[in-house]
Amino acid sequence: MLELDELSVTYRLASGEVPAVRGVSLSVAAGEAVGLAGESGSGKSTVALSLLRLLPRTARIDGRILLDGEDVVAMKWGRLRAVRWSSASIVFQGAQHGLNPVRRIGEQIAEPLLVHRLASASEARLRVAELLEQVGLPGWRARSYPHELSGGQRQRVMIAMALACSPQLIIADEPTTALDLMVQAQVLTLIRQLIASHGISLLMISHDLSVLADVCDRLAIMYAGRLVETGPAGSSFRHPYSQALSAAFPTVGDPASRLAPRGLAGDPPDPQSLPGGCAFHPRCPVALESCSTEPIELRPVGDARSAACVLVEETC
Ligand code: SF4
Ligand code: MG
Repeated sequence: MLELDELSVTYRLASGEVPAVRGVSLSVAAGEAVGLAGESGSGKSTVALSLLRLLPRTARIDGRILLDGEDVVAMKWGRLRAVRWSSASIVFQGAQHGLNPVRRIGEQIAEPLLVHRLASASEARLRVAELLEQVGLPGWRARSYPHELSGGQRQRVMIAMALACSPQLIIADEPTTALDLMVQAQVLTLIRQLIASHGISLLMISHDLSVLADVCDRLAIMYAGRLVETGPAGSSFRHPYSQALSAAFPTVGDPASRLAPRGLAGDPPDPQSLPGGCAFHPRCPVALESCSTEPIELRPVGDARSAACVLVEETC
């Protein structure tokens, strides 16, 4: 359904070029849910935005983004507009920014249907009622304004908008980050149910691995613009960075575990002056001397897992 082939994104700023994403190859099969994790600044949101070419003009995309076999990077604007929402749609973090405060939510959910001429005005009204029901909101909410809804309800509206044109792929960037834990669990359950019942592929992005593990079949971990590990959601991480990240967010729904991220000292590197060798070496608790000089590539390590670390040996 989605295939990233050596995707790189570089921002051209006054201070020089900033490599935000470096050679990411990743695929999401039909009906599969893949989670992309990393700290803020790891490049994961840049990946999300690049998929529908929603990046600022200062960004340059290299590599290929194949959406159902078609390269998004090479697409003309007319085709790209058709693909947005109808083949793939995106749920952003913080629903308050994604909704227009002065328009009723029913109009906003109907908009992609009308813009893509997928429904008449009366058909769109019926579809909006159906979509609201699917995301667990009563039909009369179509007449509400965003400020009349709670944060969780607004995020449900965003999900209804993403579903409106029956896309094959939904990209969700931190869809539950702004919500309290109880509401977060409800929204995650909703996402899980909807993608399963509609057979939709999902690429979900979060800094919180426990959230991704809850919904996704497979997880990919980014550090400093690169993938450092990919593998099935049900098995243990083997890359030192993934292990530290997963220790930072042990369990979903346990407030005590969220008070302080553990196991990960220091800050992510400045993308304009990345450390040589393995970019994680200055923070890695088990780094070897050679890690600061020898580049390390992502490679298969067995059990459907790939990792970019000299210490992760192949298992068979
Ligand atoms: Fe740590 Fe070296 Fe592995 Fe990088 S390659 S994660 S520095 S042990
Ligand atoms: Mg982000």
